[in-house]
Order: sequence, then C-alpha cells, then structure tokens
Amino acid sequence: MDAAVREALELLVAAPAVAFDVPLGAGEELARLAQAGIERLCALRMDAVATVESEGSWRADGSSSVTAWLRTALDLPGNEAWTVVRTARALHDELTLTRSALWAGRLSWAHASRLSRTALVTPRRRAAVAAPGGEATLVDIACSVSAADLSRLLAVWAHGVDAAGVMAAEQQVFDQRRVSLAQTLDGLWHIEGLLDPVGGATLAAALDSVVGASLGAKGEDRTVVQVRADALVDLARHALDTRQVPRAGGLRPHLFLHLQPEALAGPPSSLGAPPGELAPGEATVSAVVAQMLACDAELTVVRWGGDGSLLDLGRSRRTVPTHLRKAVVARDRFCVYPGCRRPATWCDAHHIVPWARGGPTSLANLCLLCRYHHRVVHGFDLRITRSVELQAWQFSYADGAPLRGPPDRRRARRTVYVPAA
Ligand SMILES: [Zn+2]
Ligand SMILES: [Zn+2]
Repeated sequence: MDAAVREALELLVAAPAVAFDVPLGAGEELARLAQAGIERLCALRMDAVATVESEGSWRADGSSSVTAWLRTALDLPGNEAWTVVRTARALHDELTLTRSALWAGRLSWAHASRLSRTALVTPRRRAAVAAPGGEATLVDIACSVSAADLSRLLAVWAHGVDAAGVMAAEQQVFDQRRVSLAQTLDGLWHIEGLLDPVGGATLAAALDSVVGASLGAKGEDRTVVQVRADALVDLARHALDTRQVPRAGGLRPHLFLHLQPEALAGPPSSLGAPPGELAPGEATVSAVVAQMLACDAELTVVRWGGDGSLLDLGRSRRTVPTHLRKAVVARDRFCVYPGCRRPATWCDAHHIVPWARGGPTSLANLCLLCRYHHRVVHGFDLRITRSVELQAWQFSYADGAPLRGPPDRRRARRTVYVPAA
C-alpha cells in the first residue's frame, strides 16, 4: 500500500470533528466526494479482509470464522459482515474483472456485492461467468445501470444462462409461504406469515383496492394500519357474503354468533348486558357488537329446555330480506356515513331504529353502512335521519348534537342496561 495513501487515511481517521465542518455552498460537492471516498474504502476493506482470510490471522483472537472476526473486531452487523466476506472471496477468486472495475471506479460497492451474490450461486452460472467474455458481459451490464436496476438485469441474465436454477430458487421461495392465525388471550387475532412474490402482490393489490376507497376520505379517523386491517377483514367477509367460498359440512361458512334474546332487546352498555359468543374462537362480544352483527344477518331462534335439551329450532330468516336489501342498495348505493363512499357490496343494511326495539324492517328504517361505520354508529349510538328535501342523511348524537367530523370518543354510549321485564 502506498505510504502516502496510508498517511492520508490515518489523517482522515484521526482528524477532529471540526475539520469536517461543511462550509455553506459546498454540501453537494462534499457529499459526492465523501461517497467516492466510501467506495474506495469499501474496496480497500474488501481486499484487506481477503488478506486476513488467506493469512488466517482472524484465528488469532479465537474467532470461529473470518465473518465472526468481522463481527467482533470491526463491529459489523452479521449480514454486512457476511456480504463483505462473500464479495471479497468472489472478487478475488473468480470475478477478477469485477474487482478491477470496482477499483477503477466504474462500479460501486453496491454493484459489486449484488453482482457477486447472483453470479456464482449455481454451477451453470459459474460456468457462464468463466466462459470467454462471460464476466466481461456482466461487468458491462452492471456499468450501464444504477445499482437499484442491477438486480433486475441480473435476474434476466440468470434466467438466460440458468433457467432451471432460477426455477429451483423460485420453488424454494414458494415453499416458504405460510400464514398462521391465532387468538391472543385478550381476544385479538395475531397474523404472522410469509407470502411468495405472486401471492404477496395479489394480496397487496386486493388490499390496495379496498384501502384506496377509505384513505383520504373526509372524516376518516382510522390510522393507515387500522384501515388495512379492516380491509383484510372486508375481503374475507366479502368472499363469504358473495358466496365465493366452498361449502364446508354442507353449510356456507360464516360467522356464528350465539346470543341470549336480551342481548338484542335492551340498550346495550358495558353494564349487565349479556355478551354474544362468537364461533369459531369462542370469544365474547359486547351487546353493542352483537346488535351491529344482528342488524343484517341470518337469524335462527333456538330454544333450550332447562335440562339442556333442544326444545325448538326455528326456521332461519334474514333480518333484511333480499328484495328489501336490493331496494336499499338501489337508493343508497354507497355507505351513507358522511364522507364514506364504500360501495354497497361492502356494506351492511343498518336498522336505524333496531328491530329488536320495534324498528321495522322497511326501506325507511334501513340504510347502508360499511362495516367500520356500522360499528361507529352502534358504538356511539348515533341517530340517523334522512332529509327528504335535501336527499341527504344527517347524523347526530343521542342528545341531538349533530355529528361533525370523526365521532367524539367522550360521547361513546353511557346508557345503563336494564333487562327487559
Ligand atoms: Zn346496525
Ligand atoms: Zn363507511
């Protein structure tokens, strides 16, 4: 190593912070100079690591490998240490033109490390690199594009020289897909998983299509991640509602909610109203949520004897018959909540006066609400009226104060539940 360069490096490392103060107007030039310096230093570090490895000096401090030595001696994070070692080996053993291009400043460290990661992973790719003109072609490709675009071009190159290897790698990625879904002790569901590139893009596109309608809407008070969570549930619910899922055990799968009649009868509150039980999962839901779900559902009345025997199983009926729902959809077309434009197929038909409290199942007593706003309306006990002259819906709190913007959380229901006599 040139003594002057070593001296310059030592000076750089030892200089006090004030020596690096950036004068006004010199920011751009110095940022570029610093980046060029970083590139040189990356190349130097790579060569130095190759020497440490070939000499075996990493063993001196008891490290188990040269990567482990980098992690402890240079304090590099594990993946970065491995990238340095892998790139150093590749550029010294097989990709010598790439190393020359890196030192000549034609390629960046990011280019070189990406190239080395892709070029040598299978025997076929190795052979293509070693063939006359093989590596030179790759270096030419890399010099012509940004590091960000290089991965895509390398994928095209790999597909050309080693289609079987690409397919095998793709299958390996695909085999890692998984989703687990488990309920936590506080009733939340925890989703964890990995999707293959096609599956992930499909889900992202479907979520985007649902999320897009909500984000930016006036009065939206959910966070982006809450909107996305609701969108995922909406997708599942939509598939169940539109009967696009296979039957299981002779039944269309859906959510089952077991309720005592009192859960629907009284004004719900946290005090005393019997909760509903949700299957699968056996979680309980408050009477507020039970009433929301019962607004637009298929209802079966089951009577049990005191000894637990089944006395009577009534016929199932929809709380909103299909023909009436069609009329509501034709009139409202969208969720009627202020600012929401979620289309009818994603909406529940809400009983403005709950049917369990005598509200009729009639066009005048029904309106469309998306699931989120349906929950808001029940949770805040909002009153809805339709102004015939204005052809518009008006939302207000139970005390008559009009709803303006997102609902005021201090106004959530406080009504005390009194069981029906
Ligand atoms: Zn409702
Ligand atoms: Zn809505």
